[in-house]
Formats: sequence, C-alpha cells, structure tokens
Amino acid sequence: MMTDIKSLTFEELNSALTALGQPKFRANQIYKWLHKTGVSSFDEMTDLSKELRSRLSEEYFIPYPVIEDKYVSKLDGTVKYLFKLFDGEYVEAVIMKYKYGYTICISTQVGCKMGCNFCASTLAGFKRNLYSSELEGQIHAAQRDLGIRISHVVLMGIGEPLDNYDNVISFFRFINDDKGINISLRDVTVSTCGIVPKIYSLIEEKLPVTLTVSLHAPNDKIRSSMMPINDKWGVDEVIKACKAYAEKTSRRVSFEYTLISGVNDSEECAKELARKLHGFIAHVNLIPVNDVKERDYVKSGEKAINNFQFALKSYGINATIRRTLGSDINASCGQLRRRKNENILNS
Ligand code: SAH
Repeated sequence: MMTDIKSLTFEELNSALTALGQPKFRANQIYKWLHKTGVSSFDEMTDLSKELRSRLSEEYFIPYPVIEDKYVSKLDGTVKYLFKLFDGEYVEAVIMKYKYGYTICISTQVGCKMGCNFCASTLAGFKRNLYSSELEGQIHAAQRDLGIRISHVVLMGIGEPLDNYDNVISFFRFINDDKGINISLRDVTVSTCGIVPKIYSLIEEKLPVTLTVSLHAPNDKIRSSMMPINDKWGVDEVIKACKAYAEKTSRRVSFEYTLISGVNDSEECAKELARKLHGFIAHVNLIPVNDVKERDYVKSGEKAINNFQFALKSYGINATIRRTLGSDINASCGQLRRRKNENILNS
C-alpha cells in the first residue's frame, strides 16, 4: 500500500525521512516541493539524488490532479478545469478573476451524497472523499498551468465539504502554512448545505474561515422539497448554528439562495426569510439557478429576482445578486464530470 506523501504533516514527513536515515534539512526541502511549488512527481524534485527519488517513489505517491480538459471563457476569462485523479475519477475546479485577485472554486468530493434536486453534482452519484493533498493539488495545478498566484479559495465545487470534514480541516492548515501556499484563512470560504453538528465542530477549530450556507428556502416545507438534508436539520436549526458561528468567530455568515421560478422566489418567501434573519448581521447571495439539462425547473425571471432582493433589503437584510461568470463554458458545478462519465459510458 503506497502512502500519500502530501497528506503528511511536516512533523510526520520529518519522522518518515529520519527513519530513512536522511539529514534534518531534507523534510524542509521536500515539504517545499510538495506544498509551495506543488510538483506532481518525485522526478521534479531536482535537488534530491536519483537514489532518494526512486526510494521515495517505492513507498510514497503524490495524488496529483491532472488537467484533462480546460475551458476558457471568452466573456470574462473564467477558466474551468476537469481534473483526472490518480484513480481515474474526475472533479472540477473554476478560476475566476476579480479586482482583488484570483479565486479558485474547488471540489471536495468525487460526486455528492446530499441529493439537492437542483444540483448537477449529485446526479452521477458519490464515489469518495478527496484527500487534503487533492484539495491542495487543484490549487497547485491551476497556479502552475496559468502562471498566477491564487489568493482566495472557495469550497463550492462538487461535493459537501463538511461531509469530508477531516481532510478539509487538514487542507486549511496546509494552505495557511507559510512553508506552503500561504493563503490567509480569512480569504477562504466553506460552503455547506447545512450539516449542523459539523458547523459546531468548525467553531471549535478556531480557524477564521468564512462560512456560507446554502439555505435556498425560508421554511422547512420548501427547503425539504429541494434538499433532503433539511429533513435532518431544519431551517431554524441551521440559522441557529450560523448565529453561533458568527458570534464565536466574529465572522459574518452568508447564505446562498438559488432562485427557482414558482418554488422559492415569491415575495412571501422573501418576507419570511427576512423575519428569520432579523437581527442577524448576515448576507444573502441571490443566485439565478443554473440550467441543468436533467432537471426541469425554471430560472426565476429578472423581475422576480429584483423584487426578491428589494423585499429583503426593505426589511434590512443585506442581499446581492450574484454576477454570472463563465456562462459560455458551463461553469456551474458538476456538469463537466457528468458529461465526461456519460461520454465514457457511451463510447
Ligand atoms: N455542498 C456545498 C457546496 C457545493 S454546492 C453546498 O451545498 O453549499 C455550491 C453552491 O452551488 C451551493 O449553494 C449550491 O446549492 C449551489 N448550486 C447547486 N446547483 C445549482 C444550480 N443548478 N444553480 C445554482 N446554484 C446551484
């Protein structure tokens, strides 16, 4: 059984190398190749002897996401990658350029178990969790391919980050390390469908990451019809956990709200949501639902979206409408993996 060398902490790597009779500085050298440069193979570690490289590759491997397909938006430069993982599975990541720098949206699992009925990620089924090295690897692969430095990370691609909790937490520690990618955790956002106990666990980690929760509905009746997870933890419990998060971490929590015509976009829904968020300094991100060809819901019209925003604002709730990036390259999550799997099945 090969060991994933890139998921070892610095201390673990250090002991492993000491056990191989290596000098003290070796761990620093290799850690830097793995986490700062982000190499995909031992052969790229050019300041190590051939013998050591080959010794390492007998016991260890680097699970590196390899770029299988790449799409660049002609409209706004958004880049979307389809990555092939070491075991032949596929995940997606998107790189967006903002005024303040580059943001990457990464996947956290191969597929998803959550079953939200408007989401493409869930359609092809759940395969496995991504290792922390594979979470990091998406950033490395994109940075190296584009020759840029990525400053912001959102965990909003395929999968439910809090359902892959341990790897996600390790990933936060790796990317925050100044011997590695060195990204401020204030510039990292984790998005969850609302796994309430894990929101409380996250509070205990005392990491300054931003939490965003996919709420999508103001009450249990509507939310349960969209998101099976709501049968476990309902709207009120989710909002309560978010309030605890905001209080304990002093970070503003935001809510994702995907607008679907006739389902959750009425003025009544906006009012109900505003009542529930009253007194809580939260931000609501309104997202016109992306078309997924297997799903038959309809995107809310511009008027309904604007009315919804207006209603929230008039009750004192901060709400913005998300700008769509990369609309010409189908940048919404789960769609590339799904298409790839279909093509393989049909060929
Ligand atoms: N599982 C996590 C993160 C991945 S989904 C979560 O649920 O938050 C990232 C965001 O995209 C979520 O807010 C999700 O609800 C939203 N989303 C999924 N499918 C969508 C679609 N077809 N149109 C618009 N947003 C969608």
